[in-house]
Amino acid sequence: MNVSIIGTGYVGLVSGVCLAEKGHRVVCVDMDADKIARINAGISPIYERGLDALLQRNIGGNLRATTDLADAVHGSELSIIAVGTPFDGEEIDLSQIKAAAREIGAVLREKSGYHVVVVKSTVVPGTTDETVRRGLEAASGKRAGEAFGLGMNPEFLREGDAVADFMNPDRIVMGGIDDRSIECLDLLYRPFDGVDKIRTTCKTAEMIKYTANSLLATMISFSNEIGNLCSALGGVDVVDVMRGVHLDKRLSPILPDGSRVVPGFTTYLEAGCGFGGSCFPKDVKALIAHGRRLGQPMTLLDGAVTVNRTQPDQIIRLLKDHFRSLKDIRVAVLGLAFKPDTDDMRESPAIPVIQWLQDEGADIHAVDPVAGSAARKLFGDRGISYHEHMETAVVEADAVVVLTRWDVFRRLPEIIAERTVQPLVVDGRRMIGRDAVARYAGIGYREMN
Ligand code: NAD
Repeated sequence: MNVSIIGTGYVGLVSGVCLAEKGHRVVCVDMDADKIARINAGISPIYERGLDALLQRNIGGNLRATTDLADAVHGSELSIIAVGTPFDGEEIDLSQIKAAAREIGAVLREKSGYHVVVVKSTVVPGTTDETVRRGLEAASGKRAGEAFGLGMNPEFLREGDAVADFMNPDRIVMGGIDDRSIECLDLLYRPFDGVDKIRTTCKTAEMIKYTANSLLATMISFSNEIGNLCSALGGVDVVDVMRGVHLDKRLSPILPDGSRVVPGFTTYLEAGCGFGGSCFPKDVKALIAHGRRLGQPMTLLDGAVTVNRTQPDQIIRLLKDHFRSLKDIRVAVLGLAFKPDTDDMRESPAIPVIQWLQDEGADIHAVDPVAGSAARKLFGDRGISYHEHMETAVVEADAVVVLTRWDVFRRLPEIIAERTVQPLVVDGRRMIGRDAVARYAGIGYREMN
């Protein structure tokens, strides 16, 4: 198929590159000319494992990038909207969605032949059927379901594993206003053999995406609340508690051969310093706001957001327990991105922790395998030195704070093992063995007094 993708961020670029790899002819559109130039030069503007290689293989062949939306939509049969849908503090901000619908609609006014518009951005239930449809119809002067089709196809990729997730999805949700729109989505995803495909309405597709993110976010906040209670109890480690819970057959079923299914949600039943990123925080808040508008309070989700907002404070509490003042205390911060394998700093728990350390006058030595330059833009240089490697960041540190579960940080115990004065290790991700270092403080555990 000839496909245009409007919005070339994490989702748009990964979708574009992967759909080109699967054999479609794809044009990625973005208003950011710099980004487009880099993509056409075969350089990915984001860090994502495996993306550069796929981009280089397809650019100039099945894939190209442009700032000219009209040209891209004209030359395609199907347009995917993958623009941002931030939370504006009150509710979801649909301005990018509305603008994209208007711009595509204006092209459809002149274009002959059937065209399908598919919303891939995460939007609150009803947005495709109402806001997007209205925008397209007003700008094109044509009716959805006649001259053009309309679909909703939420994206479930995880940053850090985006390419693998897109190429091997757990399921593909194909929402549409009619059979013809869904058939076009089916054609788009034909190369994805053997994947469960759900045909449904646009509104249900939208709700599936929000429900999935809300469930995972709630599991994390649940684990964190239990971890905080373990800390308060003393002598009980949340890691042991969650392992005991997780071995329940209802959570990790036993297969006929006696082996256990250990579902991916293991990591969602672990305590830590909170979830971040561009999706969970904003999506849960948007759903709560949407519920409120409909007169349906979302009490449980409200709680999940509240727990998450205060969870980075646990790191601060652990530091305060050990240092009367942080002034001039040398603190190595391991991890800045909101999760491993990405350079994305959006809503990272590192943000409030670093800002607090800066305000306290600590001597901060930060390291992240890929998010260093994003962090420098955010925090500047006040009180912070940025390091390429953990080895230099932890030299002479009084405290080492682990904030992102990067695999390389597992080597921390061996790196500090020879030090005569041992730093306090504050483990915000529970990834360092409690007994592997001399002085340990982790979320979800406190020694009995
Ligand atoms: P992003 O901010 O990285 O990218 C959005 C891009 O759209 C930007 O490059 C922006 O310049 C461009 N854009 C906006 N309006 C445009 C227009 N009218 N014409 C051309 N380009 C335009 O966002 P993202 O992280 O890729 O997320 C996109 C959507 O996908 C959001 O709704 C998000 O919730 C959802 N989503 C994101 C992820 C994720 O892991 N990032 C996963 C699943 C779903």
